[in-house]
Amino acid sequence: MDHKNLANETIDDARARSIADGVHRVLDGIAEAESRSGRKAGSVRLLAATKTRDVGEIMAAIDAGVHMIGENRPQEVDAKAAGLTRLCMERGYALGTAADAQRHDLVPLPFHLIGQLQSNKINKVLPYVTDIESVDHLSLAQKIAKRAEARGITVGVLLEVNESGEESKSGCDPDEAVDLAADVAALPGLELRGLMTIGAHVDDEATIRRGFAHLRETRDTLLASGDASLAQARELSMGMTHDMAYAIEEGSTIVRVGTAIFGERAFI
Ligand SMILES: *Cc1c(COP(=O)(O)O)cnc(C)c1O
Repeated sequence: MDHKNLANETIDDARARSIADGVHRVLDGIAEAESRSGRKAGSVRLLAATKTRDVGEIMAAIDAGVHMIGENRPQEVDAKAAGLTRLCMERGYALGTAADAQRHDLVPLPFHLIGQLQSNKINKVLPYVTDIESVDHLSLAQKIAKRAEARGITVGVLLEVNESGEESKSGCDPDEAVDLAADVAALPGLELRGLMTIGAHVDDEATIRRGFAHLRETRDTLLASGDASLAQARELSMGMTHDMAYAIEEGSTIVRVGTAIFGERAFI
């Protein structure tokens, strides 16, 4: 299965229909959770987590109402970007950094990197992605800033925080998040747009919610600091297929959903 051609653009009608059904179910779930928690309709954006999915599958999701995508691996960004950019343009969307190309007739469609980034892969993703959600230490942020400055661009970043404390997870220590966020936001070439976390891998609802609530409190601390470089740090990227409703009730502004749209992954 790791020989799947990620640049493939053609999928059959049944597959396209099942992806569209997935998108509609997730959008309905978002709307219900917004309304249940007294939040304004449209305050939570859906990011389709597209790892292991090919260009045809991703375009089916976009055709069904997805307006933001996120990839985990630089190699997958590289393999799919050309096809996605062209097909998006045909539909009136400017994917990722294509939105900077002075095409005001196109609607921007943000392209995020949501997986861990090795510093030697930064230049592989910067031609395409608008935001890097997985920044969790200052040295990585400094390297991204340097590459962004060399290209004359501003890259959006989210600070990833390991709220669950699970060893397998990336993300900075929650106790260091406020100071680190300020240091990252001060770098030229970057704009700190918010915080990201992956929910605790447990069944206990209270534990999962506690992590999300703490991320929200951290974001509120940043915004209340009065530091001008933190004024754009509004986003809370939290919630996936299994904990999306909790995350929305705890204040999420971006949910990253893969399985509920595309089905189970056949490979990691
Ligand atoms: C895969 C992935 C998701 C989506 O997970 P699902 O459980 O398939 O919805 C979200 N965020 C990150 C960082 C991921 O790697």
